Amino acid sequence: MANVQNVTVLGSTGSIGLSTLDVIARHPQRLRAFALAANRSVVAMAEQCLHFRPRYAVMMDADAATELGALLGSDTDTEVLCGAEGLERVAAHADVDAVMAAIVGAAGLPSTLAAARAGKRVLLANKESLVMAGHLLMAAARDSGALLLPIDSEHNAIFQCLPVDAHGRAGLVGVSKVLLTASGGPFRQWSQADMVAVTPDQACAHPNWSMGRKISVDSASLMNKGLELIEACWLFDLRPEQIDIVVHSQSIVHSMVQYVDGSVLAQLGNPDMRTPIAYGLGWPQRLESGVAPLDLVALAQLSFEAPDEQRFPCLRLAREATAAGGTAAAVCNAANEVAVEAFLEGAIRFTDIPRVIEATLENVPVVEPLTLAVVEASDSAARSAASAFIARHLTPGYAAMES
Ligand code: NAD
Ligand code: MG
Repeated sequence: MANVQNVTVLGSTGSIGLSTLDVIARHPQRLRAFALAANRSVVAMAEQCLHFRPRYAVMMDADAATELGALLGSDTDTEVLCGAEGLERVAAHADVDAVMAAIVGAAGLPSTLAAARAGKRVLLANKESLVMAGHLLMAAARDSGALLLPIDSEHNAIFQCLPVDAHGRAGLVGVSKVLLTASGGPFRQWSQADMVAVTPDQACAHPNWSMGRKISVDSASLMNKGLELIEACWLFDLRPEQIDIVVHSQSIVHSMVQYVDGSVLAQLGNPDMRTPIAYGLGWPQRLESGVAPLDLVALAQLSFEAPDEQRFPCLRLAREATAAGGTAAAVCNAANEVAVEAFLEGAIRFTDIPRVIEATLENVPVVEPLTLAVVEASDSAARSAASAFIARHLTPGYAAMES
């Protein structure tokens, strides 16, 4: 099997991980799951190992790794590794061709960076790593020659609509604007007063996409679009003013590129992440992904509207963080992660999420220039500041109100 691409899937038990394995399974002549990595979901990982027979499986901690080893017994040749060292090893392994970076949150940064430094084809789902350390990640990819292919559906769409050279480098010749589409999330038409009492399950019930809980809450608060604005600036070398956010509630147009001659190129498709994943795995060729063909006649209407930054202040906060530069985006990201977790645990209200982020951005100083150590220190300072703000100022969220 000379032309088989060895793929490491970081975050294999999550939403993106499962879609990635689904695409890999459709192309056994071409793609092989070389290594899988997950947090603590030992049973799901054992099933994946028995099915895909990867050379390595990585669990976040030693206990989970021991449990996985016991479950697998002598049924597979899979070597079980653990922790950050294990992740970095399978991200940079000499036999690996492509790395799907689909761990959620800041936890995904070191392994994504390791894959970029090792010159791999990096399929970037973990947007938080670009938000935190875009400068470092882009420089690492440039220095090593790594091909960084965006998997986030909007960025994948933009990549498909930009002029791209044979080495996968996107250019901006003739481009006047990027139109980043947003679904608007489940509360698109809700008043701010109604959003005060939303529950985690309501926030995670996205109208179009089925995703992990953290990104689902981000989509509901529109912080996801704020993170994506920052992600797009790094990936395509854009200034924030070159990007317009357009709310498109059907999630069929995944983003657009406007050119100086008035042309607008769009990428359309059903909201199913297997399309951008197959694109990343196959580029520059196209692979069958299992996604149903688009039926525009059945859809009948596509709508577009401006976002409302009054009701969704996370968008403004992300813009301000990117304008501040240095570690501000990393601080914004860390505060958001803490706030989303607190909301999911019922400790704060949905509408408290932007309050936590704003207070943290005010309290944690912006540092420059960026090194990994500086980013990690800012990330941890922001986590402490956000947790302290929650403890000091915020009343419990929906769970306490109901009891
Ligand atoms: P998810 O919560 O469904 O899955 C996360 C995966 O990461 C799981 O396999 C989990 O075990 C693993 N993980 C978490 N912490 C880890 C750690 N410390 N070490 C090792 N593994 C760890 O999340 P998801 O929805 O698949 O999203 C993953 C990433 O992709 C996020 O950054 C998200 O923003 C991005 N993304 C997701 C979608 C989507 O449709 N789900 C779309 C665009 C971008
Ligand atoms: Mg997206």
